[in-house]
Amino acid sequence: MHFYGTSKINDKGHLEIGGVDTTILAQKYGTPLYVYDVGLIRERARGFKKTFDQLGVTSQVAYASKAFSSVAMVQLAEEEGLSLDVVSAGELHTALVAGFPREKIHFHGNNKSEEEIKMALNEQIGCIVVDNFSELFLLNSICEELQRPISILLRVTPGIEAHTHDYILTGQEDSKFGFDLLNGQAEQAIEFSLQSNHIQLLGLHCHIGSQIFETTGFILAAQKIMKQLNIWKEQINFKAKVLNLGGGFGIRYTSEDEPLPAAKYVEEIVKEVQSQATSLGMEMPEIWIEPGRSLVGDAGTTLYEIGSQKEVPNIRKYVAVDGGMSDNIRPALYDAKYEAVLANRPLDEIEETVSIAGKCCESGDMLIWDLPLPKAGRGDLLAVFCTGAYGYSMSNNYNRIARPAVVFVEDGEDTLVVKRETLDDLVKQDLPYKKKVCK
Ligand code: PLP
Repeated sequence: MHFYGTSKINDKGHLEIGGVDTTILAQKYGTPLYVYDVGLIRERARGFKKTFDQLGVTSQVAYASKAFSSVAMVQLAEEEGLSLDVVSAGELHTALVAGFPREKIHFHGNNKSEEEIKMALNEQIGCIVVDNFSELFLLNSICEELQRPISILLRVTPGIEAHTHDYILTGQEDSKFGFDLLNGQAEQAIEFSLQSNHIQLLGLHCHIGSQIFETTGFILAAQKIMKQLNIWKEQINFKAKVLNLGGGFGIRYTSEDEPLPAAKYVEEIVKEVQSQATSLGMEMPEIWIEPGRSLVGDAGTTLYEIGSQKEVPNIRKYVAVDGGMSDNIRPALYDAKYEAVLANRPLDEIEETVSIAGKCCESGDMLIWDLPLPKAGRGDLLAVFCTGAYGYSMSNNYNRIARPAVVFVEDGEDTLVVKRETLDDLVKQDLPYKKKVCK
């Protein structure tokens, strides 16, 4: 059994998180329930910032709020001195409602609408990460119309794609994101930005993938970009003040995952940029990163109540819970793996291997295949670990299942931060239809 952050077994023999008994949380708030270990989020955030401080590098650590966006989470990010990455009007609105400092908000996305760009400009956010020419031209004309300046980063694709242990050098990258670093597109975008009266080009951004366990991909990306920046310094007099190397640092979901400590990614990235800057005679840029999963992923646990079971003789036993792909679509979407325990009796002897099914009408709605568990029955509480990133944020109302509540736990206190949806919430946007009858 692997425990994350403040999780432990308490003297009642129950799973406890943040000093709060999970069986009490389930009674108080119902299930399914997302539980966040606030202490662990703080520890992760402080770890990233401390590493940069120790290395003496000017930096920004932006929380990629796509991993889990809510007012309370954004407020926590602010408390920990993080910047914030948003990708939609909705995530930006959440940040504004939370009172997040506008100058520390970075707006991403490959298809920002005119309304989203206007919102970002009117709210005077810190910077927009521009993804393509059509956005660059649109942004420039909206700046002209509103007479507002904006700082930007240009997102580039350096031809490196990284996932877990694999990184692939893709040459001219076939990606919906960003300007290709080497085929002339990035240079054209830089030249356009430098000539604009409204745009201040701070530097470049790249994000090479997610759930990455090695530093090679980041190092290669930093190398390629720094070498290209050196060419542009000579040829078009462009000096990047900022280099944003994205997020994607891997976390432990199961015993098969062996992520590096977060500090290691930062150290290796900084070391590479510093060594390139020294050997090429360039100024050291500010280094920005934008982790999502590695800040909140392992701080989240989902509590479910066990319901029906179905035994298929000699094949497998299905144990169903009161949620599924509606609160965690990752297993169905990309075969994501999780571990779980019985939260109300985690110390009971493991007696069988079962598969955890969701309650949605999809055969693919399976949360965990082949999980070793004690014999579980209706009413037992299942805690699925590591659901803090892309769980709630990708939740949906398939089968008109209401989204669960979210609770923060810290130092023995629990705080409801997102209310459970009600049945009325599910129909609140619906309108009746009456066919007009011609007389
Ligand atoms: N930055 C960008 C541009 C992304 O697309 C993503 C994730 O998709 C992230 C940051 C965060 O990645 P992760 O949650 O893997 O750290």
